[in-house]
Amino acid sequence: MIAITRLYYTQPWLQELETRIVSQHEENGRHVVVLEETIFYPTGGGQPHDLGTLNGVPLLDVYETEGAVHHVLPQPLEETEVRAVLDWPRRLDHMQQHSGQHLLSAVFQDEYGYKTESFHLGAEYCSIDITAPLLSSEEQQGAESRANEVIFQDLPLLTYTLNPDERGEVPLRKIPDLEGPLRIVEIKGFDYSPCSGTHVEKTGQIGLLKILRTEKYKGMTRVYFLCGNRAFGDYQRKHEICTKLGALLAVPEGELEQRVLLELERRKEVERMVEELKAELLGMQAERITAEQGPYFVELPGASIEEAQGLARSILSLTEAVVVINLGERLILAHNLAAGPGLGQLVKEKALPLGGRGGGSPTGAQVYFSDPGKLEEFLNVLKQEICAKIGE
Ligand SMILES: [Zn+2]
Repeated sequence: MIAITRLYYTQPWLQELETRIVSQHEENGRHVVVLEETIFYPTGGGQPHDLGTLNGVPLLDVYETEGAVHHVLPQPLEETEVRAVLDWPRRLDHMQQHSGQHLLSAVFQDEYGYKTESFHLGAEYCSIDITAPLLSSEEQQGAESRANEVIFQDLPLLTYTLNPDERGEVPLRKIPDLEGPLRIVEIKGFDYSPCSGTHVEKTGQIGLLKILRTEKYKGMTRVYFLCGNRAFGDYQRKHEICTKLGALLAVPEGELEQRVLLELERRKEVERMVEELKAELLGMQAERITAEQGPYFVELPGASIEEAQGLARSILSLTEAVVVINLGERLILAHNLAAGPGLGQLVKEKALPLGGRGGGSPTGAQVYFSDPGKLEEFLNVLKQEICAKIGE
């Protein structure tokens, strides 16, 4: 076992380090380096690994095995002396989310008795699963307010090791089934959790905690939240959205909701009017078309199936005839003649062999062609069939 100094525990704000290589080897085309000391946290305890550079070469991964921290690089290092530089925004983000999680879990347990069963820290979101079958909005807001109170109190976070016989001396939030010494992270006097991650030094460095939403999950509640810079970024984004919407609708932020409701009401009214006018227009079109003798072959490119069917109904309400409406790739067929052609049968016998898809009843059918040439071909067949039938 190689003794290495884990500076991410003792100096979590250290961002640069001069150290030396202990060993270096190749593994599946990647180069794995072990250092005398390290500032890079390896994946573990629910917290993703750090990133950064060794002599300017970017780290691909950091993991721990056999008691040593392994730094994975795309190429070997030539020198023995190493300058390590931490990707600080990433580390700070992890420390803010992770410390915020301890705080939020403690608040849910102390205020409402809900225990935290699991924690997720991802690039997109953070969440905890708490043992609440249902979380009320009062509880959610209460927990969020209480967590931010503790942030503003700026309590210190302490880390120390407890030997097995000392476990009873502090009110541990959770007893892990691990033997040997336990690393404890304490939010001073407020929360005592066994944890191997990195944390901020005072709750004030969490900055801000915001719960975004909750959902039911396996009989529990999954709580999505943001801390620190993520919460600040979220606030900036949302403030910009509100400001833009306010400018677009020409109202102050406080009146946005009322104004949007009003606009939605207006849109519904406009949609009702459009529907009425469409029906009126269809009636007028039907009157113009039926001024002449049927059968009627109508071109209506770009119209919807519903519009075409509406026009066919309007025409047949005025006269007895056969109607064929061409939508471009689709034909709508209908008639109300006592002895008219069997339209569904016609489609089946004449259109399907040409590659058309569709069908229908004797008095109403539709057919779709992906090939416009075939649609024209079927349309010609249809004209002959209908004229022959009506001529009988
Ligand atoms: Zn932790």
